[in-house]
Amino acid sequence: MKEFVFSGNVLKCYGCRACEQICPQKCIQMNENFEGFLFPKIDQTICIDCNLCEKVCPVIPDNRSKIFNDITNNVYAAWNIDLKERKNSSSGGIFTAIANSVFAKNGVVYGCSWKDERIVAHQIRITSVNDIYKLQGSKYVQSTTEETFSQVKNDLKNGLDVMYTGTPCQIAGLKLFLRKEYEKLICIDFICHGTPSPKVLSAYVDFIEVDYGKISNLKFRDKKESGYSAYLSFKTFKKGVISKLIGTSPYMVGFYKGFYNRESCYLCDFTSVKRVSDVTISDYWGFGMFHPELKKEEKYGVSCIISNTAKGEEIVASMSEKVILINSTLSNCSTNQPSLSHPNVRPQYRDVFFKDLEKNGFKYLSKNKLRPRLYYVYMFTPTWIRSIYRRLKE
Ligand SMILES: Cc1cc2nc3c(=O)[nH]c(=O)nc-3n(C[C@H](O)[C@H](O)[C@H](O)COP(=O)(O)OP(=O)(O)OC[C@H]3O[C@@H](n4cnc5c(N)ncnc54)[C@H](O)[C@@H]3O)c2cc1C
Ligand code: SF4
Ligand code: SF4
Ligand code: SF4
Repeated sequence: MKEFVFSGNVLKCYGCRACEQICPQKCIQMNENFEGFLFPKIDQTICIDCNLCEKVCPVIPDNRSKIFNDITNNVYAAWNIDLKERKNSSSGGIFTAIANSVFAKNGVVYGCSWKDERIVAHQIRITSVNDIYKLQGSKYVQSTTEETFSQVKNDLKNGLDVMYTGTPCQIAGLKLFLRKEYEKLICIDFICHGTPSPKVLSAYVDFIEVDYGKISNLKFRDKKESGYSAYLSFKTFKKGVISKLIGTSPYMVGFYKGFYNRESCYLCDFTSVKRVSDVTISDYWGFGMFHPELKKEEKYGVSCIISNTAKGEEIVASMSEKVILINSTLSNCSTNQPSLSHPNVRPQYRDVFFKDLEKNGFKYLSKNKLRPRLYYVYMFTPTWIRSIYRRLKE
């Protein structure tokens, strides 16, 4: 019966590692494929046919149907009152506000961080507000869950409050791995349009390092220079922090075009208003269109919060002193969110991208297939320049 996990199905497997972590024999290993994504491989000589791996796999429709919430989405536009926390985050700083409330109860928080000084994304456990900075900000690459599902189970058994943030497919893997509801677990996901290959990010980092030497602290959504959604930045030894308009980064061009997402992202079962988490956070794209009187708030980022469960609604209510909350609707929030209705369309170039990368290298691709187009440059022009442009036009 463990056929799916055995099949190593490259198209559907999310790489969540729930099967690996549940296996009592430790006979599942995650191996990297040619594209740089992890897939399970079973050592059949020690497998005892217990089928646990298949029982926790979110690809199996019967498993998935057990963990989707009923559709009860309440929707808010929101931002963190603490400007420093908001600036350090990708959109409105809602992740940080929820994490702070978990630490106030002596709880623990799981989320995505760079691995030490290396630019490799993985899920980690933090126990103090001093470490929140590690999880803040979107890392646009697939993160590996390591052994965090087992750690979560341990924490819950020890009576701790636990918050887990991740992609919807990671949350699905976690919930199936746990195999029962825990009152003290809060699951937070985001609207997700796909996770790129760690191999491509690594090639991009190598490409940058030719000019700048060793880099660290890569931020895809640095607001420090001029606000929301404008800059990608990284730290260098020789020249300090370097910032680039995000639309001019060849890696981000390929990301927006969906050239190197995991195959499962193009068939994703979680790109809908049916959610597996208690709370879904995202950017509130187009907020100023629905609330012109508050448009200036876009400068430092506005999040959308969708609360999916009664627990989610409690979490939102408990943040009311730390977060500005504005009632909104699913139809407004989803206007600019294709990933709430369908998976990212798989571009034809995805068929040959990885072969092209192998054969020609990232530098060649940056000058050809990943060249910034005017559209991307405009889209990520700092908001203050865009408003001057609009005023001049008017
Ligand atoms: C790969 C990816 C795709 C996304 N797609 C969309 C989208 O289509 N539409 C949209 O509106 N928003 C999308 N987001 C979410 C968005 O970028 C912000 O994370 C969200 O607005 C929350 O912002 P914040 O200011 O509250 O928190 P932030 O401080 O930005 O917190 C980020 C949270 O995301 C988690 N995280 C960061 N990177 C990863 C990762 N690689 N894997 C798992 N967890 C991660 C961190 O652990 C942290 O909990 C995406 C994020 C990622 C990482
Ligand atoms: S059937 Fe059981 S022992 Fe075999 S790989 Fe799956 S979890 Fe491991
Ligand atoms: S989706 Fe997760 S549980 Fe299923 S085979 Fe892939 S890694 Fe294992
Ligand atoms: S798009 Fe779907 S499959 Fe891809 S990372 Fe997001 S939730 Fe997982």
